[in-house]
Amino acid sequence: MGEDVEALKRRLPLLEYLRQYNWVGQPVGRSEFVGLCPLHEETRPSFYVNTRKDVFYCHGCGQGGDLIRFIQLSRHLSFRQSLACLDTQATLVDDSSAVLEKAADFYQQQLDHYPEAMRYLNQRGLYDPALIGEFEIGYAPGGSLRRHLTAQGYSFDLLRQVGLINVNGSDAFYQRIVFPLRQGEHIVNLYGRSIGTAFAHRFLPGTKGGLYAWEKVRHCPEVILVEGLFDYAVLRQAGFYNVTCSLGTHLNADQFLELCDGPRTVYLTFDVDANQSGQQAAVQLALRLSARGITARRVLLPQGHDPNSFFVEGGNTQQFQSLVEAAQP
Ligand SMILES: [Zn+2]
Repeated sequence: MGEDVEALKRRLPLLEYLRQYNWVGQPVGRSEFVGLCPLHEETRPSFYVNTRKDVFYCHGCGQGGDLIRFIQLSRHLSFRQSLACLDTQATLVDDSSAVLEKAADFYQQQLDHYPEAMRYLNQRGLYDPALIGEFEIGYAPGGSLRRHLTAQGYSFDLLRQVGLINVNGSDAFYQRIVFPLRQGEHIVNLYGRSIGTAFAHRFLPGTKGGLYAWEKVRHCPEVILVEGLFDYAVLRQAGFYNVTCSLGTHLNADQFLELCDGPRTVYLTFDVDANQSGQQAAVQLALRLSARGITARRVLLPQGHDPNSFFVEGGNTQQFQSLVEAAQP
């Protein structure tokens, strides 16, 4: 029994469990996070999670222990009931991650079979097969994913829960370029860019995770932040390695904390659009970053451009580099 409990806890770390319930923790030190206590009402954070020991402690209400203890306290369950609850949750997380992996594989296999998909990538300035492979880009033609996955034994309920299938049973992604979004090893979501007339951007329900491919740039003293994956892709193709993407101008708590996890300069390269929304978001974000001691600079692209259109319409690496060097506080 003791060993089973330990094995079960390893399947779902406490921090991951808490995040699924939208708990937000600020990093303190190497392996600790602090946030508001989910077990008692408070306005100042006193709930600590130690990720190395996989335990919590609240200085407000004095409760502490492992994830099973947390489930007992938060859901008012017995030890045995908490184990069962954790087992169900861990299984759902494992299954979701596995089915997203299969879906991403399937979409990747489709890419070569649909010339319109490759045509779209080329239109958006993306040519390099090595990068297309590295980003695990795929194509969702629509109408064939459900059959493919159920044939492999995945239940309709699971596909629904993950959001790959709509309520009416059809594929959620139709005629979309698909980028898997990973957090660590696991795919946590898929981004689908319509190549047709449908609403341009779609995600599956649930978290978008942290910044895109953050582990590749987290040690860079200077990081270029863009809002779209096609911006990211063309910058990488143009030879900029220190790029990451927030998948929109509004950063979630994890993404913001990632940018703040060490001293660095962040080059905010959001769209320069007529309604100024990209630049307003950049100004706000720059202020929030500065308040955390992070140097923020705004890269000003020509009017009406984002990094993607800048390169698609003939901009080159050197020109973009000059814009980065001219970035404003
Ligand atoms: Zn508490």
